[in-house]
Amino acid sequence: MTQATTCEYLVIGAGIIGLAIARELSMAQPKAKIIVVDKENRIGMHASGRNSGVLHAGFYYAPDSLKAALTRDGNTLLRDFLSEHKVSLRECGKVVVASNESQLSALDELDRRGKANGVELYSISERELHDLEPKARTHDRALWSPSTAVADPTEVIAALLADVRTRGIDVRLGEPVTTISRTTVTTSAAEYSPGHIVNCAGLYADRIATMAGLEHPYVMLPFKGLYWHSNLPAGFLTRHVYPVPDPRNPFLGVHATVTVNGEMKIGPTAIPALSRENYDMFGGMSGRDLGEVARYLPQFLSSPHHEARKLIASEVPKYLKHKLVEQAAHLIPGLTSSMFDHRLKPGIRAQLFDKSKKSLEMDFVVHNQENCTHVLNAVSPAWTSSLAFAKHVVAGISRS
Ligand SMILES: Cc1cc2nc3c(=O)[nH]c(=O)nc-3n(C[C@H](O)[C@H](O)[C@H](O)COP(=O)(O)OP(=O)(O)OC[C@H]3O[C@@H](n4cnc5c(N)ncnc54)[C@H](O)[C@@H]3O)c2cc1C
Repeated sequence: MTQATTCEYLVIGAGIIGLAIARELSMAQPKAKIIVVDKENRIGMHASGRNSGVLHAGFYYAPDSLKAALTRDGNTLLRDFLSEHKVSLRECGKVVVASNESQLSALDELDRRGKANGVELYSISERELHDLEPKARTHDRALWSPSTAVADPTEVIAALLADVRTRGIDVRLGEPVTTISRTTVTTSAAEYSPGHIVNCAGLYADRIATMAGLEHPYVMLPFKGLYWHSNLPAGFLTRHVYPVPDPRNPFLGVHATVTVNGEMKIGPTAIPALSRENYDMFGGMSGRDLGEVARYLPQFLSSPHHEARKLIASEVPKYLKHKLVEQAAHLIPGLTSSMFDHRLKPGIRAQLFDKSKKSLEMDFVVHNQENCTHVLNAVSPAWTSSLAFAKHVVAGISRS
């Protein structure tokens, strides 16, 4: 029997959150031995490499939420990191537009939240919207967020991996964690005996938490985000254009975003997925996931906390390209299906569902045990927030 590898910290998951936490731990304790394991042979195979790459400003979220503070601060920290590591960032800003009178009160609420959260945000007239983004249309007024930007998530995570390795952190790919017994973590390749485990397993964080003995009321419900890429020339759209979201759901609605090289894409959808890695139509299926979806999706549908039926009825048809384009055309009149020539790789949101409350968790969720920390709901905008999120988690570990 080979001896277990000892280390101060074992981070499970090399997504942006796991890598950011490993980096922060190493800055706090430069002498600590830190190992990160990931089940995949390459980084960015899940949400951290399959997202919109929008660096959010932080105005959507309730002022007392973790999302509000960590997104505002994360926006600044990620900007600094990208500039230091020479990763491209497009300073395109973003407009939020209303499609009718009934959305104006929700638009104004976003404005109030932005101000309460200390985010630079302006309420603008139709005329001012036209000057900022002539392709977008709004009803009466819109919001302008200059500090929203965009980067390529695969470039960002590659830069973070390089930084983490330079700091002496050992990142081991292709090593799924299979069991956790007390403080021994077994992967397909080795056994570890860490002082502290940090669970950043994204879509599987609930199951890793259960393996580690955390009693919790959660199950991960997967929601699929599909995108279409436009064949219009770069520069057709110059700002991200977003709708007013339904505050009862954690998703922002289909939007049109500018990529780092100035092209346009639309999406993502929030269609319930059949399994946690169901990236293709029927690919990536798992019997266990299907069973959970069959059991808990109906509970979400009947939840009094969300407009779930409305959400599903509007999301599922967006599998069809023309339905997705139709939605985007509310923001940018004149868009047609022929302007979109290929799908981009889809992403799946690891959305935590509380079985006892029958509701989706709207904020980030972190649980601290004596020798273990679980990041359970690193949903959007945790990519933007990642470096601030890491500071928050490491402060929690120091206190525990
Ligand atoms: C469609 C979509 C669009 C989004 N758009 C944005 C956006 O524009 N801006 C923004 O800020 N956020 C966005 N997000 C959210 C953002 O992508 C996530 O919040 C963030 O990537 C979460 O990072 P993570 O490290 O927690 O998860 P992941 O990137 O999923 O990383 C988890 C890692 O854990 C590993 N793992 C899982 N199980 C095991 C195991 N048993 N053993 C070892 N390793 C394991 C996985 O292989 C994976 O690499 C979006 C998300 C989606 C899905």
